Amino acid sequence: MSLSEIQSRVQKSADSAGRNPSDIKLIAVSKVQPNERVRSVLEQGHTVFGENRVQEAATKWPDFSEEFSDLELHLLGPLQSNKTRQAVKLFSFIHSLDRPKLAITLARVAQEEGVCPNLFIQVNTGEEPQKAGILPNEVDAFVIQCKSLDLPVVGLMCIPPVEEEASLHFALLAKMAARNGLTGLSMGMSADFEKAIAFGATHIRVGSAIFGNRVKSGN
Ligand SMILES: *Cc1c(COP(=O)(O)O)cnc(C)c1O
Repeated sequence: MSLSEIQSRVQKSADSAGRNPSDIKLIAVSKVQPNERVRSVLEQGHTVFGENRVQEAATKWPDFSEEFSDLELHLLGPLQSNKTRQAVKLFSFIHSLDRPKLAITLARVAQEEGVCPNLFIQVNTGEEPQKAGILPNEVDAFVIQCKSLDLPVVGLMCIPPVEEEASLHFALLAKMAARNGLTGLSMGMSADFEKAIAFGATHIRVGSAIFGNRVKSGN
């Protein structure tokens, strides 16, 4: 697979869903990928990348950002409160706002720094005990809390359970976003981004289909 193949698949899925492809942002998930592979995608002109860990992003991206202009970095993985300041400085988007304590910390740090990334609330649509995220029946109240903290929440994000039909989770996420007046939907990965586009995804997170298999596991 390659970047251009994925781009044309995005285009096709958008067409068949009657959607404008420019309403779908392709995030190239570069976590634990060797720098040569990342460089090759940068050299093809792609500017939007996703990482799972603040530390890894902080070692990898400052150099690339000097060399390539207008990069946009997205944090996809869990954010520990003590890394919030670093994350606020490094990322344009955080997709893993998954608990009230983090919302409160983000609001404070954003005020101190005078800047805040755009935020997606991560929803644990499968209600899996081991998975991060706000439970479906707590989403509406959490959206209200985030608004009262003046946080720039742009949408909802989910990672469906591996053994379940992803479409059901995409549909649920879309419904929850709509009833909360949120337009962003971060959903769809290498295996299911076309389905996600059919259900309204605005941000798809594609790693291995662009870069190849990860050398070590990057959860
Ligand atoms: C790793 C990861 C992805 C990309 O996964 P692929 O299957 O390689 O496309 C997307 N979203 C999150 C949250 C991830 O951790």
